[in-house]
Amino acid sequence: MNIAVVGTGYVGLVTAACMAELGHTVFGVDIDAAKVEMMKQGKSPIFEPGLEEVMQRGLKAGRLSFTTDLASVLPQVNIVFSAVATPPNADHTADLRAVYAVSESVARHAEASLVFVNKSTVPVGTGEECEKRMAAILAERGKSFFIPVVSNPEFLREGMAVGDTLMPDRIVVGLNERADGSGQRAEGLQAQELMEELYRPLTRTGKPLLIMARESAEIVKYASNAFLAAKISFINMLTPLCEKTGGSIRDVARGMGLDDRIGPRFLHAGIGYGGSCFPKDVKALLAIGKQYGVPMDIVSATDAINVWQRERFIEQLVRLIPERSRVAVWGLAFKPKTDDMREAPSIDVIRALVAAGHTVTAFDPVAAAKAKPLLPPETTLVDSPMVAAEQAQAVVLLTEWDEFRGVDFSKLKSVMAGTLLFDARNVYEPDEVRAAGFTYVGLGVK
Ligand code: NAD
Repeated sequence: MNIAVVGTGYVGLVTAACMAELGHTVFGVDIDAAKVEMMKQGKSPIFEPGLEEVMQRGLKAGRLSFTTDLASVLPQVNIVFSAVATPPNADHTADLRAVYAVSESVARHAEASLVFVNKSTVPVGTGEECEKRMAAILAERGKSFFIPVVSNPEFLREGMAVGDTLMPDRIVVGLNERADGSGQRAEGLQAQELMEELYRPLTRTGKPLLIMARESAEIVKYASNAFLAAKISFINMLTPLCEKTGGSIRDVARGMGLDDRIGPRFLHAGIGYGGSCFPKDVKALLAIGKQYGVPMDIVSATDAINVWQRERFIEQLVRLIPERSRVAVWGLAFKPKTDDMREAPSIDVIRALVAAGHTVTAFDPVAAAKAKPLLPPETTLVDSPMVAAEQAQAVVLLTEWDEFRGVDFSKLKSVMAGTLLFDARNVYEPDEVRAAGFTYVGLGVK
């Protein structure tokens, strides 16, 4: 099939490259001309393991191409994916301007019916609003065809995005019949058939494709993210109880997680979730609940615990690190295997350290360039963890990159001026670190 993917960021570029890998012909469209030029050369503007290889295969096979000109590709496709960003407004509702801009642009330039698929995370009702806006533009243009809107939320994880897209747990497809009752069934069914055909390479291997109402699909995405975030906040809620009583949060998590009704994933205590999705989607679901007068108490507690856990960690840093110290920060990205800095805890932590009068030297294997403009200008970025630690009173591990796991503690101690080791991800064994002569501070561990 021929498809366009509009907005080639973390979601759109992976979607475009993987759809080409599955045999479709894909036009990646973005308004950022510099990004488009890079992508045409087979270079990914984002760090995502395995992505460039898939992109390059698609480019070479002639199934993947990139452009800034959406109108030029519309006559060649029957599905347009929108994967533009939906960042938070000041009141935490989703900023839908890019989604509406893309859908309206499609309606202004389409000469025949196609299916508009929303991959971005959008509040319930957005599909209906897009459909109405497009119908109004088509009517103004005197066009008799209709553009149905499908919700196909994305569940990929940054750092694992290629595998998640080629081997998803499930594919959610939300579509409705037309509200005005005219010709609705035929068009709704046509959209379903196209989506089933598009995903056939995956459903053939047994991946479930769930067809549901568009509203349900829109809610599934926020509900999934809020639920996963709630698991993280639940375990983080228990960390001070462990600290005060002598318990270990790791053992508590292991004891809980082996119950297969609970499961071990997303039960790792730490400084809390960050990134472009969980903080924004948790708050957006709260805003949606407010809009519809539906209480969301578990979701608001999830958010509050996440903020509190970050503050609690920062308060410990400020209290325990001697005044005017040199502090090494290991890891800047919000999680390993990505260069995404959106809502990364490192931003708050480094700002607090600098505000407290410390000098910060930081290392991240891939996120330094994206981090630099977001960090206080006093922050020095270096290219190895040991260089960051030189003459430092304290090392603060913020992202659990694998290369921090195998650290040689005696070497680390020899290059540092002090012995404080703050482990915001509970990566290390406290006893091992202490035996090497460090003062160890984790979360929820003795
Ligand atoms: P992103 O910021 O990385 O990418 C958005 C892209 O859209 C950018 O390249 C931007 O230049 C482009 N763009 C903006 N306006 C445009 C327009 N009018 N026409 C063409 N291109 C335009 O965003 P992202 O992280 O990929 O997220 C996209 C959506 O997917 C969001 O709704 C997000 O919540 C959701 N999502 C993200 C993830 C994730 O892990 N990042 C996972 C699941 C869902």
